[in-house]
Order: sequence, then structure tokens, then C-alpha cells
Amino acid sequence: METQDILKNEISSFAKVKEGLSRNEHLVLSSLKSAKTTLTAYELLDILRDRGFRAPTVYRALNGLRKRGLTHRLERTRSFVACNEKHVHQDDIHPIFAMCNSCGSVLELVDSKLMNQLSRTVEQLGFTVSDSVVELHGSCMPCREKK
Ligand SMILES: [Zn+2]
Ligand SMILES: [Zn+2]
Repeated sequence: METQDILKNEISSFAKVKEGLSRNEHLVLSSLKSAKTTLTAYELLDILRDRGFRAPTVYRALNGLRKRGLTHRLERTRSFVACNEKHVHQDDIHPIFAMCNSCGSVLELVDSKLMNQLSRTVEQLGFTVSDSVVELHGSCMPCREKK
């Protein structure tokens, strides 16, 4: 990804920056939004290094964004994705991620009914769910159509 693109994005979205977001949080969020795929903390560091970022800076910003529900962490690839903002994150909302193996694009969807059902199923086995990240891996439509 071009650093230029991130900067452009940064300037255009600076006006609508979420209240209370620090400069670093804003830069990390802009980078994630500009990326067409998920980014690991190290990829974020590479993008933002010449803006004074170090590893702890990246992690602190990611933590801040995650607490606000603006980013999500994907466990299998240990990478991060910007929330698609079409839903409001509450404690009981657990999104489902569908990731393309070819291009790395991520679809985020929320289906509370499905997730409640899943929780109830494991509760019947005596298990209590406190947190969950559901990741589905496969091929997105554009990639499938290319074949
Ligand atoms: Zn989200
Ligand atoms: Zn794809």
C-alpha cells in the first residue's frame, strides 16, 4: 500500500475523527481503513515507522481502538481490521469474519441470533462463553470469478 494514499485518507477523514481519538490511534485506524486486507502489528509499524511509531506505540493505539470497538483482532492470522462501522459494538455483539484466502479481504457481519444460538448450544454442555471470534476462511466472490 502507498503511504501517499494513507496520508490522503488521513487528511480527508481527519474532520470526522471520532471524539477523543489520539493522533496515533487515528493514524493506525486510517492505515487499517486504507488497507484492502488485514494488517499485523508489524505491517502497521512498517507503514507508520517514519511517522515516529515504535512497536509499543502501535500496540497502545491498537488497544485504544479495540476498546472503542473501532478495530477487531483476528486470532488465526494475528492481524487487525477496521470495524466496518455499519453496526454499533456492544459487549454482547460478536461479529463473524469471512476472510478470503487469496486476496485477504475480510467481510464482517453481525448475526446476534446465530451467535446466541451457538452460545446456548455450548451452554447445554455446561460451558459459559465469555468472548468469541468466529473466523471463516474461503474465497470471496471477485476472486472466485477470476478463476
Ligand atoms: Zn465491527
Ligand atoms: Zn478474494
